[in-house]
Amino acid sequence: MKYDYLIVGAGFAGCVIAERIATQSGKSVMIIDRRNHIAGNAYDYYDDNGILVHKFGPHIFHTSSKKVWDYVSNFTEWIDYEHTVLAVIDDKKVPVPFNLNSLYSVFSKKVAAKYEALLLEKYGYGLKIPILKLLENNNPDLKTIAEYIYNNIFNGYTIKQWGLKPNELDFSVTSRVPVFISHDNRYFQDNYQGIPLKGYTELFRNLLNNRNIEITLNTDYKINSSSIKYNKLIYTGPIDEFFDYKFGKLPYRSLHFDFKSINREWFQEVSQVNYPNENEYTRITEFKHFHRQDSKMTTIAYEYPQEFVLGINEPYYPIQNDDNNELFKKYKVESEKLKNTYFVGRLADYKYYNMDQIVGVALMKYEKEIANNS
Ligand code: FAD
Ligand code: UDP
Repeated sequence: MKYDYLIVGAGFAGCVIAERIATQSGKSVMIIDRRNHIAGNAYDYYDDNGILVHKFGPHIFHTSSKKVWDYVSNFTEWIDYEHTVLAVIDDKKVPVPFNLNSLYSVFSKKVAAKYEALLLEKYGYGLKIPILKLLENNNPDLKTIAEYIYNNIFNGYTIKQWGLKPNELDFSVTSRVPVFISHDNRYFQDNYQGIPLKGYTELFRNLLNNRNIEITLNTDYKINSSSIKYNKLIYTGPIDEFFDYKFGKLPYRSLHFDFKSINREWFQEVSQVNYPNENEYTRITEFKHFHRQDSKMTTIAYEYPQEFVLGINEPYYPIQNDDNNELFKKYKVESEKLKNTYFVGRLADYKYYNMDQIVGVALMKYEKEIANNS
C-alpha cells in the first residue's frame, strides 16, 4: 500500500499531525518510530510495583493556550495537578522558582523581611525576573541577594545540566525558571495544568485511534524508509541526522535516569526535588505524587546529565546558544528546499519546546501548510 503520508516519530509532534491528517483530511498515514513505544519522550508505563512512571523524566502538562488545552482534552481527562518543586540549599529545602517564601526558608525573619521589602519596592508583587537580569542590579543589597540565588540555585545546576555556565547559554534557558516576586510556590503559573488521568501513553493511544493511521515501531527512517511507499513526509527527528550531518553535528544534551524502587510509602515531600550544588544528579522525581497512587512502595528516578554521544544515548535537549542556532539555520535552509517534506518537533526545529508548544506548533503546521496541500 502507498500511504499519503509517512510520519517519522511518534511523539507529540508526529501524533498530533497524524491525528489531524487522518480526521480532518481523511488521508492515510504510516507513523514510524525507532523506539519500541509510542508517545516519544512523554512515554509512561506501570513499573513492577504498579507505579505509573515517566520513562524520560517528569512530564507536567501546562499551558496558557485554551486552544491547545481544549485540543489535548479531546483525548484525555485530567488529574488536577499543580507542580511544586523544592531545591536543596545546604540542609534546607526551599521553593523553586526562588520566591519570597524561599527568602524566609533560608534567612532569618529579619533579613528575609529586609530583602522582601527591597524586591517589592524595586519590582512590585507578581513580577518574574530572569536571574541574569537580577544580577545586573547596582543596589548592593539587591546584588547580594541576586548573587546568593545565582550561586545556590543556578550556577551549579546549570553547569551540571548543560556543561556550560548560565551566561554561555541563550538567555531564554535560565529565564524558564525566573526569580518570582511572589508567595506563589507553583513551578508554573499557566491557566491550565494537569497530568493525563490515565497517563500520557493512553492519551497517545487515543490520539492514534483512527483507521487511517497505522503505526510501526522499532523502525528507523534512515534504515527502513526505502521499503515504505508514501507521497509526503513529515519528519520529527533530529534535523542534522536527516541531512547526514553535512554541516556538522548539532550539539544536544543527554541524561541518564537511574530508577529505584523503595520499600516505604513516600520518599520526598513533592514530586521533584532539585539538587543545584550537592551530588552529581540534578533532580530526583518521585512519580507517585502525580497520580496520588496508594501503594506501600514508591519509585524514584535520579537524573544525571550527560554529553550526547551519537549511538550511545538520546538527544534530549537542544543546546540553545548563538553558535548552535547559526548551525541550525543552515539545516533549516536545506529543509526549505525540499518539496512535500515537512519538519516539525523539538529535534527537527532544534528548539527547547515544552509539550504544549509542540502541540501548538503541530496544529499550526497542519492548518497553515499541510491542510491546504493535502
Ligand atoms: P519527541 O517526544 O522526542 O519524539 C520524537 C520521536 O521521534 C522519538 O520517539 C524518536 O524515537 C523518534 N525518532 C527520531 N528519529 C527517528 C528516526 N530516524 N526514525 C524513527 N523515529 C525517530 N515538556 C513539558 O511540557 N512539561 C514537562 O514537564 C517536560 N519535562 C521534560 C523532562 C525531560 C527530562 C525532557 C527531556 C523533556 C521534557 N519536556 C517537558 C519536553 C517534552 O518531552 C517535549 O516537548 C516533547 O516530547 C517533544 O515532542 P516531539 O514530538 O517534538 O519529540
Ligand atoms: N535551573 C537551575 N536551577 C534549578 C532549576 C532550573 O539552574 O533549580 C536552570 C537550569 O539551567 C535549567 C533551566 O533553568 O536547565 C531550565 O529549567 P527547567 O526546570 O525548565 O528544565 P527542564 O525541566 O526542561 O529540564
